[in-house]
Amino acid sequence: MQRHHHTRTPSALLPRLLLAVLLGLTAGTTVRAQAPLPVVASFSILGDLVAQVGGERVTVRTLVGPGGDAHVYEPTPADARALSEARLLVTNGLGFEGWMERLVAASGFSGIQVVAAEDVVPRRADSDDPGAHGGDIDPHAWQDPANVALYVERIRAGLTEADPAGAADYRARGEDYAAALARLDADIRAALAEIPPARRQVVTSHDAFGYYADAYAIDFLAPVGVNTEAEASAADMAALIRQIRAESIPAVFVENISDPRLVEQIRRETGARAGGTLYSDALSSQDGPAGTYLDMMRHNLDTLTAALVPAPEPVPEQTPEPAPEPAPEQAQGVSSTTVNQDR
Ligand code: ZN
Repeated sequence: MQRHHHTRTPSALLPRLLLAVLLGLTAGTTVRAQAPLPVVASFSILGDLVAQVGGERVTVRTLVGPGGDAHVYEPTPADARALSEARLLVTNGLGFEGWMERLVAASGFSGIQVVAAEDVVPRRADSDDPGAHGGDIDPHAWQDPANVALYVERIRAGLTEADPAGAADYRARGEDYAAALARLDADIRAALAEIPPARRQVVTSHDAFGYYADAYAIDFLAPVGVNTEAEASAADMAALIRQIRAESIPAVFVENISDPRLVEQIRRETGARAGGTLYSDALSSQDGPAGTYLDMMRHNLDTLTAALVPAPEPVPEQTPEPAPEPAPEQAQGVSSTTVNQDR
């Protein structure tokens, strides 16, 4: 039999290794010396997604911050300055940020624009939605994690175009985040499967959960349509209250971005349960319960299930059985399997 000899000795390999180490150090120094990519995101949920995919290579400025209502935002001169210095702008699209076009023009922004919802199949507002005129586009696509996977891919592509040196980093981070979204989706499905169909109806302030409703088969009713600019009419309110009573809708929820008084009035008039706060169009502050998109979705899920899962049947009282006397072998710490093997 012929022996195989190594043609390269360790000493011959050493210069190559040194060269590789030196090249690696040089590349690392270049990355660290580079200033982070300045990105502007229109609202807090997108700001989080950009930070997740961009990591330390980017700095993100969010225009409509935690708890803010992006439907009715009024940009400031500071926003225009931030945008003029940005190299990438990430917006939702689907008509969510009606104020953005004028801001972009005023700022003289000349960087790359990413419309995160570009690849989403738009949902039309139900024609009987209060305030909906002739099938408005519903902008709240982020309420379905499958759509957010499309957002993340658009953001990754935009970051890569603006900063090609970070391509591998953005890809790795984007893939990690897509895996987290898939886990989130599976967890939502598993948790909501515990809710009987008759209890899968809730009320919120405005119609922000249409994509969530389509993905997870829960009905959301709201006195205000897909845009918070519209106001609930007395007729809309009366119809909603009749429906809540007729269908015994179990719970009503306030939203972090909306005035809670309308929902509180509905709750008083119907006797429905106050289910707590759902985060619809904005995150909470970092130390709140919804500081990131993933935390927001898990908080909403916990809030929904806590209000909708029926209380368990009371366990009938039983007299506790006396603890059985331990068998002699078990008392000696020898399991029956071991005993059988020994025989
Ligand atoms: Zn909204």
